[in-house]
Amino acid sequence: MRRLRQSPALRRLVSETRLSPDQLVLPLFVRAGRKVRRPVAAMPGVFQLSPDEAVKEAAQAHELGVPAVLLFGIPDRKDTRASGAYARDGIVQQTVRALKKELPDLIVITDVCLCEYMSHGHCGIVQRDRRGARILNDPTLKLLAQAAASHAQAGADMVAPSDMMDGRVRAIRQRLDREGFTEMPILSYAAKFASAFYGPFREAAESTPQFGDRRSYQMDPANAEEALREVALDIAEGADIVMVKPALAYLDVLYRVKSEFGYPTAAYAVSAEFSMVKAASANGWVNERAILLESLLAMRRAGADILITYAAAEAARWLKEG
Ligand SMILES: [Zn+2]
Repeated sequence: MRRLRQSPALRRLVSETRLSPDQLVLPLFVRAGRKVRRPVAAMPGVFQLSPDEAVKEAAQAHELGVPAVLLFGIPDRKDTRASGAYARDGIVQQTVRALKKELPDLIVITDVCLCEYMSHGHCGIVQRDRRGARILNDPTLKLLAQAAASHAQAGADMVAPSDMMDGRVRAIRQRLDREGFTEMPILSYAAKFASAFYGPFREAAESTPQFGDRRSYQMDPANAEEALREVALDIAEGADIVMVKPALAYLDVLYRVKSEFGYPTAAYAVSAEFSMVKAASANGWVNERAILLESLLAMRRAGADILITYAAAEAARWLKEG
């Protein structure tokens, strides 16, 4: 076996898996204002950005070869109807317009969910009764579809529902079609697990639930068969790209999703995957560049076509340097 490992050129010749900036998506957190760059403490190098700064950040990444960004909004006000999620002048809608104006070739994907806009921080409408609080499925679908339509009207290239309500891909597809956005693709967070790896994200997106947790809608980390059923449903409802989230601890799910469906598949390397590497490398315990690139390569090997990572710009630069 060692005959083909003798030189870098030979190793490159027989390499089975390639990493390229073309596969990367950079998530961005946007909030109101001008010239705002608020650092996220648990995610070194990640900021909450005002639309003008988001344009700068996206331009830098795009220059390095990153083709797409994924937007998360942090509204000034939250309520129990998540009205900021579908406001014409909502923070995501404003940022989409700014990005498409300045960087028309950049693919702008918008996260579609309600949690950042809900005063209680859950991804759906909450009903309280004597037994506690429940997240209502079907009434939530209408708001999600409304949010997706408002992103389309602002000029987004793709919508990415992350809420994990049942039937949301169909509801969004129908609404988009009805409004004439028949060509807009849907990237569904199809297998999204209720994961401890989301910890630092909640600081970044200010979306921590005020009570309870998200286990009644996000998936149990124990279940891979169920992930395949989730993906099958989303595809049947009209998803064009399916996602597994988190990535590194769920490579088996990623592999099975890609093998079973052969659909364009995205892996989301979530906040704690990023923060853990940053923390360890800040201590000199690991080589940041080598760990990050090896992790992304592992996601590709497992079946991911698209890699969503907070390290997208850095990774693109490293890949360019070779
Ligand atoms: Zn959510």
